[in-house]
Amino acid sequence: MFKKSLLVLLYSVSTYAHAGFDIVTLGSKGGIQDGNLTAFLLKDSDEQNYIALDAGTIINGLIVADQQQAFKDLNVPPHSPYTKIGYLLREKIKGYFISHAHLDHLAGMIIASPDDSHKNIYGLASVNDTITETYFNWKAWPNFGNRGQGYQLGKYNYTDLSSQDWLPIKNTNLQVKALPLSHAGVESSAFIIKNNQKQIVAYLGDTGADRIEKSDLLNSLWSTLTPYIKNKQLKGIMIETSFSNDVAERSLYGHLTPKLLLEELTQLENKVGDKGALTGLPIVITHIKYSLLKQSDPQTMIQQQLNADNNIGVIFHFPAQGDHFQL
Ligand SMILES: [Zn+2]
Ligand SMILES: [Zn+2]
Repeated sequence: MFKKSLLVLLYSVSTYAHAGFDIVTLGSKGGIQDGNLTAFLLKDSDEQNYIALDAGTIINGLIVADQQQAFKDLNVPPHSPYTKIGYLLREKIKGYFISHAHLDHLAGMIIASPDDSHKNIYGLASVNDTITETYFNWKAWPNFGNRGQGYQLGKYNYTDLSSQDWLPIKNTNLQVKALPLSHAGVESSAFIIKNNQKQIVAYLGDTGADRIEKSDLLNSLWSTLTPYIKNKQLKGIMIETSFSNDVAERSLYGHLTPKLLLEELTQLENKVGDKGALTGLPIVITHIKYSLLKQSDPQTMIQQQLNADNNIGVIFHFPAQGDHFQL
């Protein structure tokens, strides 16, 4: 893991003086391991405050990441009544970015909500509507939001994102845009995050390939990202690969395989221009499912399949829970 992190870091150093973004893996799995579901913290490397990209696992992810020294530079002020985990949750995570409302992307936020601090929940309107209707409704859970059924406790402010305009993220120096993705009939999202140095990182929630989903939403995202690659602003893409290549295309339910991800990245390469236009670009693989089978560990298979057919020269990175790295 260190070696891969180093490669990512070297790419960054060779391309830009400014490090870009710090990322902490709170949860790396696309199911079924409760305590390790999709969630990443991200901050500008020069700043202290994080945002959460998805929130499948929050508290357990903070505990594991802290044990792995992800927050070794953070000092809890002596006057704070909170533990380091409490301080991180309440003071350092400044907003949740929920790609879609499937449980493996927001369970950690819901479970931590009684002890959480006031925050914004950022997402596409359809995602915020589903969270409002399905979870924070006084049936599944108390309504901690500022919309929806019954008395609104107002701890969380829903903020609808647009694909057109950059929105400043409160209490950070980051800005965000969100683009829709197709996830087997569910609207999922990609977040494009920008810092003050105009560096960009793209985080995608669950998505199928355009060819399988009969969609052009990934194509639109690639078009949006193309100028940032040409200008050397794009620091990396975080994207799912849920299944290995031996899962039939009709059984993917809105997810990617190594073959389909490489097909999509080739589309992106074609848009950027010459063969080799993506060489050295870090691609962070998320959402590999925890396996109950003795044989054919999907993590190993996906890793092998992506690297074996990687003729576009990107650098795949496979973070485990607690891993911290820079893009
Ligand atoms: Zn998922
Ligand atoms: Zn999903």
